[in-house]
Amino acid sequence: ETSEAHEPIKAAESGNQSDLLWDISLRARIDEAMEMGEIYCVYQPKIEATTGRMVGVEALVRWHDPARGFIDPMHFIQQCERAGRMEHLTRYVLQSACSAGKLLHFRGRPITMSVNISATLLGDMRIVGIVRNILQATRFDPHCLMLEITETSRIADLGTASTILKELRTLGLRISIDDFGVGSANFETFYELPFDELKIDRLFVANLARDAKARAIVSSIVSMGREARITIVAEGVETAQDVEILNKIGCDELQGYYFSRPISLSNLLEYKDTDQEA
Ligand code: C2E
Ligand code: CA
Ligand code: CA
Ligand code: CA
Repeated sequence: ETSEAHEPIKAAESGNQSDLLWDISLRARIDEAMEMGEIYCVYQPKIEATTGRMVGVEALVRWHDPARGFIDPMHFIQQCERAGRMEHLTRYVLQSACSAGKLLHFRGRPITMSVNISATLLGDMRIVGIVRNILQATRFDPHCLMLEITETSRIADLGTASTILKELRTLGLRISIDDFGVGSANFETFYELPFDELKIDRLFVANLARDAKARAIVSSIVSMGREARITIVAEGVETAQDVEILNKIGCDELQGYYFSRPISLSNLLEYKDTDQEA
């Protein structure tokens, strides 16, 4: 499958990626890599559980270095934070994703574009201006934009983050809490922050079939979502058995290799969903 070509090499195969000099050179090259198009987005479909239809996609950043090959996103994102270039990377990803999003319609309806936003950017209001400017420049419909807040453990102040998220929502977009159930994406986050969607961490999804405890956690998150009128998404769905269990539990949306790996924009434009309607 062509989409395989877009998957990053694993950190373990990448030799000296943890090497300090390598990290320093990565940090120094981030801006250039964006200018050269070495950094770009791939997109992973999000599937509505009851219909099997694609209702959205998540933009995931990739860096293909001509000399080193694919660099693990977690690793270069961390280096980007260290280099103080996170805001710049986010602007770049948002710009790409909103431009791509304008091309994406599914059965005549626009689909939701989800973009990951590191919680470290929720410390001040600058992110609001960035998002507003990109929405204006690309003329992408804000109602089709979802911001997935990652690394919620790094929110310095829930009050400030909450104010910023409310402000972002007034632009018309929606907010998602990523990796719910692990790290600091916990009940306090759930209680304090305004949001529209919650993504159950892959840890629980991966163990659904063999572990009653994982099923109990996922069911309780799903019923919590129903009560609070929040969309619940399971990420890392890899098998037909996972799909069956998640459907039984009543999870709203599914995302994972079972449906599709993250794919290039051109592959996405050809993506066919699993239901049979023409
Ligand atoms: P995430 O937001 O939790 O994204 C899901 C990760 O799981 C992605 O890894 C995706 O490729 C992978 N994945 C999707 N389906 C499956 C599956 O069925 N099985 C397995 N094993 N994995 C699956 P990726 O692309 O390496 O991204 C890793 C993390 O890097 C993301 O985790 C997110 O936290 C961060 N990230 C990626 N792109 C961006 C970005 O543009 N901005 C920011 N701030 N963070 C990003
Ligand atoms: Ca995410
Ligand atoms: Ca996630
Ligand atoms: Ca995750």
